[in-house]
Amino acid sequence: MDKIRIGIVGYGNIGRGVEQSIKRNADMELKAVFTRRDPASVKIQTEGAEVKHFDDMEAMKDDIDVMILCGGSATDLPVIGPKVAASFNTIDSFDTHAKIPEYFANVDKAAKEGKNVSIISVGWDPGMFSLNRLYAESILVQGSTYTFWGKGVSQGHSDAIRRIEGVKNGIQYTVPIEAAVDQVRSGSEPELTTRQKHLRECYVVAEEGADKAAIEEAIKTMPNYFDEYDTTVTFITEEELKANHSKMPHGGFVIRTGETGCEGNKHVIEYSLKLDSNPEFTGSVLVAYARAAHRLSQKGESGARSVFDIAPAMLSQMTPEELRAHML
Ligand code: NDP
Repeated sequence: MDKIRIGIVGYGNIGRGVEQSIKRNADMELKAVFTRRDPASVKIQTEGAEVKHFDDMEAMKDDIDVMILCGGSATDLPVIGPKVAASFNTIDSFDTHAKIPEYFANVDKAAKEGKNVSIISVGWDPGMFSLNRLYAESILVQGSTYTFWGKGVSQGHSDAIRRIEGVKNGIQYTVPIEAAVDQVRSGSEPELTTRQKHLRECYVVAEEGADKAAIEEAIKTMPNYFDEYDTTVTFITEEELKANHSKMPHGGFVIRTGETGCEGNKHVIEYSLKLDSNPEFTGSVLVAYARAAHRLSQKGESGARSVFDIAPAMLSQMTPEELRAHML
Protein backbone atom coordinates (compact mmCIF):
# COMPACT_ATOMS: atom_id res chain seq x y z
CA MET A 1 0.00 0.00 0.00
CA ASP A 2 1.29 3.50 -0.85
CA LYS A 3 2.16 5.55 2.20
CA ILE A 4 0.41 8.85 2.88
CA ARG A 5 2.96 11.54 2.02
CA ILE A 6 3.07 14.31 4.63
CA GLY A 7 4.53 17.83 4.57
CA ILE A 8 5.08 19.80 7.79
CA VAL A 9 4.67 23.58 7.49
CA GLY A 10 6.47 25.37 10.34
CA TYR A 11 9.02 23.55 12.48
CA GLY A 12 8.50 24.53 16.12
CA ASN A 13 7.30 22.37 19.03
CA ILE A 14 4.23 21.04 17.23
CA GLY A 15 6.19 20.53 13.99
CA ARG A 16 8.69 18.35 15.86
CA GLY A 17 5.84 16.51 17.63
CA VAL A 18 4.24 15.73 14.26
CA GLU A 19 7.58 14.46 12.92
CA GLN A 20 7.90 12.03 15.87
CA SER A 21 4.33 10.81 15.42
CA ILE A 22 4.83 10.11 11.70
CA LYS A 23 7.70 7.76 12.63
CA ARG A 24 5.21 5.68 14.69
CA ASN A 25 2.53 5.47 11.97
CA ALA A 26 3.46 2.78 9.45
CA ASP A 27 1.13 4.14 6.76
CA MET A 28 2.73 7.61 6.71
CA GLU A 29 5.97 9.15 5.51
CA LEU A 30 7.43 12.63 5.94
CA LYS A 31 8.39 14.08 2.56
CA ALA A 32 9.41 17.63 3.49
CA VAL A 33 9.43 20.32 6.16
CA PHE A 34 8.66 23.88 4.99
CA THR A 35 9.96 26.84 6.95
CA ARG A 36 10.00 30.62 6.61
CA ARG A 37 13.57 30.58 7.95
CA ASP A 38 16.70 29.73 5.97
CA PRO A 39 16.20 25.96 5.33
CA ALA A 40 19.91 25.34 5.94
CA SER A 41 19.43 26.55 9.53
CA VAL A 42 16.65 24.03 10.31
CA LYS A 43 17.84 20.53 11.26
CA ILE A 44 15.20 17.79 11.19
CA GLN A 45 15.28 14.21 12.48
CA THR A 46 13.99 12.25 9.51
CA GLU A 47 16.44 10.78 7.04
CA GLY A 48 15.35 11.18 3.44
CA ALA A 49 12.99 14.09 4.11
CA GLU A 50 13.88 17.53 2.74
CA VAL A 51 13.82 20.97 4.37
CA LYS A 52 12.48 23.60 1.97
CA HIS A 53 11.57 27.24 2.09
CA PHE A 54 7.88 28.07 2.56
CA ASP A 55 7.87 29.79 -0.86
CA ASP A 56 8.95 26.58 -2.63
CA MET A 57 5.93 24.51 -1.64
CA GLU A 58 3.98 24.78 -4.94
CA ALA A 59 6.69 22.79 -6.76
CA MET A 60 5.87 19.78 -4.54
CA LYS A 61 2.15 19.76 -5.30
CA ASP A 62 2.33 16.24 -6.77
CA ASP A 63 4.62 14.86 -4.05
CA ILE A 64 2.58 15.60 -0.92
CA ASP A 65 -0.87 14.29 0.06
CA VAL A 66 -1.45 16.33 3.23
CA MET A 67 0.26 19.40 4.70
CA ILE A 68 0.20 19.59 8.51
CA LEU A 69 0.29 23.28 9.43
CA CYS A 70 2.26 23.82 12.65
CA GLY A 71 2.45 27.62 12.84
CA GLY A 72 1.21 29.64 15.79
CA SER A 73 -2.48 30.50 16.05
CA ALA A 74 -2.00 34.17 16.96
CA THR A 75 -0.51 35.42 13.71
CA ASP A 76 0.79 32.50 11.55
CA LEU A 77 -2.26 30.34 10.83
CA PRO A 78 -4.73 33.12 9.87
CA VAL A 79 -2.39 33.83 6.91
CA ILE A 80 -0.85 30.39 6.26
CA GLY A 81 -4.10 28.39 6.66
CA PRO A 82 -6.04 29.76 3.67
CA LYS A 83 -2.85 30.16 1.59
CA VAL A 84 -1.82 26.51 1.81
CA ALA A 85 -5.42 25.20 1.65
CA ALA A 86 -5.64 26.66 -1.88
CA SER A 87 -3.06 24.11 -3.10
CA PHE A 88 -2.96 21.19 -0.61
CA ASN A 89 -5.11 19.17 1.79
CA THR A 90 -4.34 20.62 5.22
CA ILE A 91 -4.65 19.94 8.96
CA ASP A 92 -4.03 22.56 11.63
CA SER A 93 -4.42 23.10 15.37
CA PHE A 94 -5.82 26.66 15.28
CA ASP A 95 -6.79 27.33 18.88
CA THR A 96 -8.04 30.93 19.15
CA HIS A 97 -11.52 29.69 20.09
CA ALA A 98 -13.28 33.04 19.56
CA LYS A 99 -12.00 33.30 15.98
CA ILE A 100 -12.69 29.73 14.84
CA PRO A 101 -15.88 30.58 12.83
CA GLU A 102 -14.05 33.32 10.88
CA TYR A 103 -10.98 31.11 10.35
CA PHE A 104 -13.17 28.20 9.20
CA ALA A 105 -14.90 30.44 6.61
CA ASN A 106 -11.58 31.70 5.20
CA VAL A 107 -10.05 28.22 4.95
CA ASP A 108 -13.30 26.75 3.55
CA LYS A 109 -13.33 29.25 0.66
CA ALA A 110 -9.69 28.56 -0.26
CA ALA A 111 -10.05 24.77 0.09
CA LYS A 112 -13.19 24.66 -2.07
CA GLU A 113 -11.52 26.75 -4.79
CA GLY A 114 -8.48 24.46 -4.72
CA LYS A 115 -10.62 21.27 -4.45
CA ASN A 116 -8.83 20.29 -1.25
CA VAL A 117 -9.92 19.09 2.20
CA SER A 118 -8.84 21.10 5.27
CA ILE A 119 -9.55 19.93 8.81
CA ILE A 120 -9.12 22.87 11.19
CA SER A 121 -8.65 23.22 14.96
CA VAL A 122 -7.42 19.65 15.51
CA GLY A 123 -5.55 18.78 18.72
CA TRP A 124 -6.85 18.26 22.24
CA ASP A 125 -8.51 21.60 22.91
CA PRO A 126 -9.85 22.41 20.45
CA GLY A 127 -9.97 18.82 19.28
CA MET A 128 -10.47 15.78 21.53
CA PHE A 129 -12.00 17.90 24.33
CA SER A 130 -14.43 19.45 21.82
CA LEU A 131 -15.53 16.00 20.65
CA ASN A 132 -16.06 14.81 24.23
CA ARG A 133 -18.11 17.91 25.08
CA LEU A 134 -20.28 17.16 22.05
CA TYR A 135 -20.75 13.47 22.93
CA ALA A 136 -21.55 14.26 26.58
CA GLU A 137 -24.04 17.05 25.79
CA SER A 138 -25.80 15.00 23.12
CA ILE A 139 -26.36 12.19 25.64
CA LEU A 140 -27.02 14.11 28.89
CA VAL A 141 -29.14 16.79 27.25
CA GLN A 142 -29.94 18.42 30.60
CA GLY A 143 -26.91 19.21 32.73
CA SER A 144 -23.75 21.30 32.88
CA THR A 145 -20.40 20.95 31.14
CA TYR A 146 -17.06 22.10 32.57
CA THR A 147 -13.56 22.11 31.08
CA PHE A 148 -10.46 22.41 33.28
CA TRP A 149 -6.91 22.65 31.95
CA GLY A 150 -3.58 22.01 33.61
CA LYS A 151 -1.56 22.47 35.47
CA GLY A 152 0.37 22.73 32.27
CA VAL A 153 2.01 24.84 29.63
CA SER A 154 -0.34 26.41 27.11
CA GLN A 155 1.59 26.69 23.88
CA GLY A 156 -0.91 29.10 22.34
CA HIS A 157 -0.58 31.48 25.27
CA SER A 158 3.22 31.07 25.44
CA ASP A 159 3.39 31.80 21.72
CA ALA A 160 1.27 34.94 22.21
CA ILE A 161 3.57 36.19 25.02
CA ARG A 162 6.68 35.65 22.90
CA ARG A 163 5.30 37.91 20.18
CA ILE A 164 5.02 40.95 22.50
CA GLU A 165 7.60 43.68 21.89
CA GLY A 166 10.48 43.48 24.37
CA VAL A 167 9.91 39.78 25.21
CA LYS A 168 12.88 37.53 24.54
CA ASN A 169 11.30 34.31 25.76
CA GLY A 170 8.41 33.23 27.93
CA ILE A 171 6.16 30.43 29.09
CA GLN A 172 2.63 30.29 30.50
CA TYR A 173 1.10 27.75 32.90
CA THR A 174 -2.63 27.28 33.20
CA VAL A 175 -3.60 26.26 36.74
CA PRO A 176 -7.04 24.88 37.67
CA ILE A 177 -8.49 26.19 40.93
CA GLU A 178 -9.01 23.06 43.07
CA ALA A 179 -12.03 24.31 45.00
CA ALA A 180 -13.86 24.80 41.70
CA VAL A 181 -12.97 21.29 40.50
CA ASP A 182 -14.26 19.76 43.74
CA GLN A 183 -17.54 21.64 43.46
CA VAL A 184 -18.05 20.39 39.89
CA ARG A 185 -17.28 16.75 40.71
CA SER A 186 -19.90 16.84 43.48
CA GLY A 187 -22.58 17.23 40.81
CA SER A 188 -23.89 20.48 42.30
CA GLU A 189 -23.65 22.21 38.88
CA PRO A 190 -22.13 25.47 40.20
CA GLU A 191 -22.04 28.60 38.05
CA LEU A 192 -18.37 29.48 37.70
CA THR A 193 -16.85 32.45 35.91
CA THR A 194 -13.72 32.03 33.79
CA ARG A 195 -11.75 33.77 36.56
CA GLN A 196 -13.05 31.35 39.24
CA LYS A 197 -11.87 28.25 37.35
CA HIS A 198 -8.21 28.93 36.42
CA LEU A 199 -5.20 31.10 37.12
CA ARG A 200 -2.59 31.98 34.49
CA GLU A 201 1.07 32.04 35.59
CA CYS A 202 3.56 33.66 33.18
CA TYR A 203 7.36 33.47 33.37
CA VAL A 204 8.99 36.01 31.07
CA VAL A 205 12.55 36.74 29.93
CA ALA A 206 12.71 40.40 28.87
CA GLU A 207 15.12 41.81 26.31
CA GLU A 208 17.80 44.07 27.77
CA GLY A 209 16.42 47.55 28.43
CA ALA A 210 12.81 46.49 27.73
CA ASP A 211 9.97 48.22 29.61
CA LYS A 212 8.85 45.44 32.00
CA ALA A 213 5.78 47.31 33.21
CA ALA A 214 4.60 47.72 29.61
CA ILE A 215 5.17 44.00 28.92
CA GLU A 216 3.19 43.02 32.03
CA GLU A 217 0.34 45.35 31.03
CA ALA A 218 0.34 43.99 27.44
CA ILE A 219 0.09 40.42 28.74
CA LYS A 220 -2.61 41.01 31.35
CA THR A 221 -4.88 42.95 28.98
CA MET A 222 -4.46 40.76 25.88
CA PRO A 223 -7.97 40.02 24.51
CA ASN A 224 -8.99 36.34 24.12
CA TYR A 225 -5.83 35.19 25.94
CA PHE A 226 -5.45 36.85 29.38
CA ASP A 227 -7.97 39.65 29.97
CA GLU A 228 -10.59 37.37 31.59
CA TYR A 229 -8.19 35.68 34.07
CA ASP A 230 -6.19 36.49 37.18
CA THR A 231 -2.70 36.48 35.69
CA THR A 232 0.69 36.64 37.40
CA VAL A 233 3.78 37.78 35.48
CA THR A 234 7.22 36.88 36.86
CA PHE A 235 10.39 38.07 35.12
CA ILE A 236 13.21 35.50 35.15
CA THR A 237 16.57 34.98 33.41
CA GLU A 238 17.09 32.82 30.31
CA GLU A 239 19.10 30.38 32.50
CA GLU A 240 16.21 30.03 34.97
CA LEU A 241 13.81 29.44 32.11
CA LYS A 242 15.99 26.66 30.69
CA ALA A 243 16.61 25.03 34.08
CA ASN A 244 13.06 25.12 35.49
CA HIS A 245 10.64 25.50 32.60
CA SER A 246 11.90 23.49 29.63
CA LYS A 247 9.34 20.64 29.72
CA MET A 248 5.89 20.94 28.20
CA PRO A 249 3.48 18.78 30.21
CA HIS A 250 -0.24 19.43 30.10
CA GLY A 251 -3.59 17.82 30.63
CA GLY A 252 -7.01 18.53 31.95
CA PHE A 253 -10.53 17.19 31.95
CA VAL A 254 -13.97 17.67 30.51
CA ILE A 255 -16.76 16.94 32.97
CA ARG A 256 -20.49 16.87 32.30
CA THR A 257 -22.96 16.19 35.06
CA GLY A 258 -26.66 15.79 34.40
CA GLU A 259 -29.88 14.01 35.20
CA THR A 260 -32.14 11.56 33.37
CA GLY A 261 -35.58 10.04 33.94
CA CYS A 262 -38.48 11.25 36.06
CA GLU A 263 -36.64 10.41 39.33
CA GLY A 264 -33.70 12.64 38.42
CA ASN A 265 -30.97 9.97 38.37
CA LYS A 266 -27.57 11.69 38.31
CA HIS A 267 -24.69 10.89 35.94
CA VAL A 268 -21.11 12.12 35.65
CA ILE A 269 -19.16 11.85 32.38
CA GLU A 270 -15.45 12.63 32.64
CA TYR A 271 -12.74 12.58 29.95
CA SER A 272 -9.25 13.24 31.18
CA LEU A 273 -5.79 13.64 29.65
CA LYS A 274 -2.43 13.53 31.42
CA LEU A 275 0.26 14.46 28.92
CA ASP A 276 4.03 14.32 29.45
CA SER A 277 4.45 16.22 26.19
CA ASN A 278 1.71 18.46 24.89
CA PRO A 279 3.38 18.91 21.45
CA GLU A 280 3.96 15.17 20.93
CA PHE A 281 0.35 14.39 21.89
CA THR A 282 -1.07 17.23 19.76
CA GLY A 283 1.18 16.08 16.90
CA SER A 284 -0.26 12.57 17.23
CA VAL A 285 -3.83 13.89 16.96
CA LEU A 286 -2.89 15.96 13.90
CA VAL A 287 -1.39 12.90 12.20
CA ALA A 288 -4.51 10.78 12.82
CA TYR A 289 -6.65 13.50 11.24
CA ALA A 290 -4.22 13.77 8.30
CA ARG A 291 -5.23 10.19 7.48
CA ALA A 292 -8.89 11.26 7.46
CA ALA A 293 -8.20 14.28 5.25
CA HIS A 294 -6.39 12.07 2.74
CA ARG A 295 -9.27 9.58 2.66
CA LEU A 296 -11.92 12.32 2.22
CA SER A 297 -9.86 13.94 -0.53
CA GLN A 298 -9.56 10.59 -2.34
CA LYS A 299 -13.36 10.35 -2.24
CA GLY A 300 -13.52 13.69 -4.09
CA GLU A 301 -14.65 15.83 -1.15
CA SER A 302 -13.45 19.41 -0.66
CA GLY A 303 -13.79 22.33 1.76
CA ALA A 304 -13.11 22.89 5.44
CA ARG A 305 -14.13 20.48 8.20
CA SER A 306 -13.80 20.45 11.98
CA VAL A 307 -13.38 17.38 14.20
CA PHE A 308 -17.18 17.26 14.51
CA ASP A 309 -17.49 16.39 10.82
CA ILE A 310 -15.06 13.46 10.77
CA ALA A 311 -16.38 9.94 11.38
CA PRO A 312 -14.19 8.11 13.96
CA ALA A 313 -13.40 5.24 11.58
CA MET A 314 -11.64 7.70 9.23
CA LEU A 315 -8.90 8.18 11.85
CA SER A 316 -7.86 4.57 12.22
CA GLN A 317 -5.23 2.58 10.35
CA MET A 318 -7.71 -0.32 10.52
CA THR A 319 -10.39 -0.89 7.88
CA PRO A 320 -14.07 -0.55 8.89
CA GLU A 321 -14.28 -4.39 8.80
CA GLU A 322 -11.31 -4.74 11.17
CA LEU A 323 -12.74 -2.08 13.47
CA ARG A 324 -16.11 -3.87 13.67
CA ALA A 325 -14.35 -7.16 14.45
CA HIS A 326 -11.92 -5.84 17.07
CA MET A 327 -13.28 -2.67 18.64
CA LEU A 328 -17.08 -2.78 18.75
P1 NDP B 1 6.29 27.46 18.24
O1 NDP B 1 6.47 28.87 18.69
O2 NDP B 1 7.24 26.41 18.74
O3 NDP B 1 6.32 27.42 16.64
C1 NDP B 1 5.53 28.29 15.87
C2 NDP B 1 6.29 28.65 14.59
O4 NDP B 1 7.40 29.47 14.93
C3 NDP B 1 6.89 27.44 13.90
O5 NDP B 1 5.96 26.87 13.02
C4 NDP B 1 8.11 28.00 13.21
O6 NDP B 1 7.80 28.44 11.89
C5 NDP B 1 8.48 29.20 14.07
N1 NDP B 1 9.67 28.86 14.87
C6 NDP B 1 9.83 27.78 15.69
N2 NDP B 1 11.05 27.78 16.25
C7 NDP B 1 11.66 28.91 15.80
C8 NDP B 1 12.94 29.48 16.02
N3 NDP B 1 13.84 28.88 16.80
N4 NDP B 1 13.22 30.67 15.41
C9 NDP B 1 12.33 31.27 14.63
N5 NDP B 1 11.09 30.75 14.35
C10 NDP B 1 10.78 29.60 14.94
O7 NDP B 1 4.79 27.08 18.56
P2 NDP B 1 4.22 25.62 18.91
O8 NDP B 1 4.67 24.67 17.89
O9 NDP B 1 4.51 25.34 20.33
O10 NDP B 1 2.64 25.84 18.80
C11 NDP B 1 2.01 26.20 17.58
C12 NDP B 1 0.52 26.39 17.79
O11 NDP B 1 -0.10 25.15 18.05
C13 NDP B 1 0.15 27.26 18.98
O12 NDP B 1 0.08 28.62 18.62
C14 NDP B 1 -1.20 26.73 19.36
O13 NDP B 1 -2.18 27.58 18.83
C15 NDP B 1 -1.34 25.41 18.67
N6 NDP B 1 -1.69 24.32 19.63
C16 NDP B 1 -2.94 23.79 19.59
C17 NDP B 1 -3.31 22.78 20.44
C18 NDP B 1 -4.68 22.17 20.37
O14 NDP B 1 -5.00 21.33 21.21
N7 NDP B 1 -5.52 22.51 19.41
C19 NDP B 1 -2.40 22.24 21.46
C20 NDP B 1 -1.10 22.85 21.40
C21 NDP B 1 -0.77 23.85 20.53
P3 NDP B 1 8.95 28.46 10.74
O15 NDP B 1 9.56 27.09 10.70
O16 NDP B 1 8.21 28.81 9.50
O17 NDP B 1 9.95 29.51 11.15
